[in-house]
Amino acid sequence: MSNQESSSSQRAKLSPDEVDVVVVGAGFSGLYLLHRLRALGMRTQVFETASGVGGTWYWNRYPGARCDVESMQYSYSFSEELQQEWQWSEKFSAQPEILGYADHVADRFDLRHDIQFNTEVTAAHFNEAGRCWNVETSHGDRVSAKFLVMATGCLSSTRMPDFKGLESYTGKTYHTGMWPHEEVDFSGQRVGIVGTGSSAIQAIPVIAEQAAHLTVFQRTPNYSIPSRNGPMTPEYEHDWKSDYESFRAAARGSKNGVLTNPNEVSALAVSEEERQQVYERRWEGGGTYFMAAFNDLATNQQSNDTAAAFVRDKIRNIVDDPEVAELLVAKDYPIGTKRICVDTNYFETFNRDNVTLVDVRDAPIEEITETGLVTDGRRFEFDAIVFATGFDAMTGTLLKMDIQGRGGLTLGKKWEAGPRTYLGLMSEGFPNMFMITGPGSPSVLSNMMVSLQQHVDWVVDSLEYLRSGGLDAIEPLREAEDEWVEHVNAVAHQTLFPQANSWYMGANIPGKPRLFMPYIGGVGTYREECDEIVAKGYKGFRLQKSAHREVTAAE
Ligand code: NAP
Repeated sequence: MSNQESSSSQRAKLSPDEVDVVVVGAGFSGLYLLHRLRALGMRTQVFETASGVGGTWYWNRYPGARCDVESMQYSYSFSEELQQEWQWSEKFSAQPEILGYADHVADRFDLRHDIQFNTEVTAAHFNEAGRCWNVETSHGDRVSAKFLVMATGCLSSTRMPDFKGLESYTGKTYHTGMWPHEEVDFSGQRVGIVGTGSSAIQAIPVIAEQAAHLTVFQRTPNYSIPSRNGPMTPEYEHDWKSDYESFRAAARGSKNGVLTNPNEVSALAVSEEERQQVYERRWEGGGTYFMAAFNDLATNQQSNDTAAAFVRDKIRNIVDDPEVAELLVAKDYPIGTKRICVDTNYFETFNRDNVTLVDVRDAPIEEITETGLVTDGRRFEFDAIVFATGFDAMTGTLLKMDIQGRGGLTLGKKWEAGPRTYLGLMSEGFPNMFMITGPGSPSVLSNMMVSLQQHVDWVVDSLEYLRSGGLDAIEPLREAEDEWVEHVNAVAHQTLFPQANSWYMGANIPGKPRLFMPYIGGVGTYREECDEIVAKGYKGFRLQKSAHREVTAAE
């Protein structure tokens, strides 16, 4: 355990009984929230399940874990000093460095003493008479707060499939999203890995270098673009830092919160030769930048087909064995509609003698045995199995808590047919409860650092507005929420995204409602919509005065 982590016996302090705001989570959202709420003089208590800050970067310590948004862009913009002083060592930073950055921020802004670590929020009930949230934790803390902010992240509940016999396995098991803190050494071991999503695609090349043998169990192949990662150069760093303000402003107004130099031309408007040249340049440039090669890859099937075909050909060229290459080529969903992956030597890894690919699409994993697993009647023996099987995304963590709003309405009941929010920020029936990057906001389709700062600013500005107007409650109106849910859905269906069985659609969790959860209208557009709603006196929200007099946008 590092000295920046706290054991339960070293908890920062016992929580007070009453605060202005309870924040759930001390990832990048929770840290920035705390910083801003403090500046407003609001008594804030943060609860965090982990023993340290960093959220997703605390848990996802698997080999090869790194961000696929460039570090100069995947960083806070709220403090000029911070963004000038912090130095990234690589273009795409690895997990330890990003976690180090979160630790630095927590120390630099002296945030730790309002964070209670090793503490899970188990319940939050809205008390209508007192207009407050009663929050309970795994440690038996009971705190009453006027406002509750869920800064719980979008990918924070790991998903472990219900494999028959899992408990009988005697070797070591790991989940990429809950990796141990101590170093895991696979040297000399026979390792199996289940899954080929972003996490696996990063972990496989690194584990393959260490293990005696690595067997990859793939259900659905993924499209992946080489990252072309490399050391940060002083020139590159200087370019960004000398004009950070304009770069950040451009990112805020962009489609995904990332500067990708988008080409505003249809893939079908250029000759075959030019199209190939554009793809080739983007492939050589590396990263998700590839998906901005043309302006209609997400909306036009024919255009998308040209990009998918280009990537398939690249895979066929990289992988020596044509049968293995064919298995690795995604064919039945448009490129980008499952989260595009970014890798370092992923496809190349399948040319190694110590790596085997096993297709489990038609013959699923039947059971885990004492010594390995069985698929298609074949038995595999492993010293360790890595599950890179993803998350119950966007709603999993929220629905794990017992959240009850007005009239005892549970969030689970309200979201039975899928999440319902206004702007991904609030849900009707749950006054004074905010979500940071909740379902119905751009969140996972964007640079999270851009989106979470916008949400935190929106929430904190709203609290300030309430306070200055002698108001003490805010809640979306049902009609505004219904319209927003419909809008989120309509915009999604203008794209190819709903075609894929992705976690964006809830498709990876049996029984989860199928609908496209994030808002795909774009980060810049979304920001304008949020600002406009505020400019119109919080249009679509019900605001209440302490004396229970209602104030709506019409007043
Ligand atoms: P994921 O994308 O959901 O991938 C899970 C993998 O496990 C899929 O290949 C899935 O196959 C497979 N799987 C699940 N259940 C299975 C079963 N019963 N049998 C066989 N295979 C099974 O999860 P992830 O890779 O952890 O990534 C989640 C998200 O986290 C990413 O999309 C990304 O947003 C984020 N992430 C980002 C980075 C980065 O910034 N570089 C890195 C890692 C993760 P199917 O596809 O067939 O369901």
